[in-house]
Amino acid sequence: MLKGKTALVTGSTSGIGLGIATALARQGANIVLNGFGDLEGPKAQVAGLGVKVGYHGADMGKPADIEDMMKYAAAQFGRVDILVNNAGIQHVAPVEDFPPERWDAILAINLTSAFHTSRLALPAMKQANWGRIINVASVHGLVASAQKSAYVAAKHGLVGLTKVTALETATSGVTCNAICPGWVLTPLVQKQVDARAAAAGVSNEEAKKQLLAEKEPSLQFTTPCSEAAKNVRGVAWNMDGGWAAQ
Ligand code: NAD
Repeated sequence: MLKGKTALVTGSTSGIGLGIATALARQGANIVLNGFGDLEGPKAQVAGLGVKVGYHGADMGKPADIEDMMKYAAAQFGRVDILVNNAGIQHVAPVEDFPPERWDAILAINLTSAFHTSRLALPAMKQANWGRIINVASVHGLVASAQKSAYVAAKHGLVGLTKVTALETATSGVTCNAICPGWVLTPLVQKQVDARAAAAGVSNEEAKKQLLAEKEPSLQFTTPCSEAAKNVRGVAWNMDGGWAAQ
């Protein structure tokens, strides 16, 4: 379905980003990976699906790196047709103890990076009259949890950016939407499970159960490769041409 298209997925060396990159490659899209850590595993996983794979190691907290990455993608693949703004980090602390540099990093990586990639991808998408921008927000783009001020602020901001981008592209072939997952068992969440297990002196399994019970009525994690829609519950999914975004 996506043969000949190119998808750039930020933060795609792990977790949800790698899951999305793999799913898009399965549909035939060429993929530009981005992120830190092990590269060879993710590259091989996606290339094994028979599509072209590129990689750029831009730090999503650095606008100059993002410009380089977008230039690289255009030079290697012609155009980014599908942009998935997924890179994200977390830090947990009450507002008065929240380290200011962690606040700045979370806002930069989880929110501002999506502004930069979008502003740089949109001209070619508009010219082609086709594009898909998918912002991986979070349920924390819609509701809050204590101790997550920067993350909740960034994700609410990302939902706002999604709406504005959707309005500005509303009469074109470009769409912009956000995905708002609850708990997905990735390294980002495993860190929170480990912290809870250590603080409460309970096992990893017990910490997982407590985490789920607090927030997620299905009592199960979503996984990046879940059966389609298995943990989509109780949402109202708009197909309203941008009406409710106004
Ligand atoms: P993860 O830690 O498994 O993956 C994060 C990815 O981002 C990795 O590839 C990492 O290398 C990359 N990354 C981190 N900092 C970066 C930077 N400065 N520049 C470039 N890449 C960077 O986390 P995940 O759970 O897969 O999270 C992916 C996205 O999904 C995040 O935006 C997160 O907020 C969101 N999300 C996660 C959950 C969850 O429960 N795991 C729920 C809702 C939303």
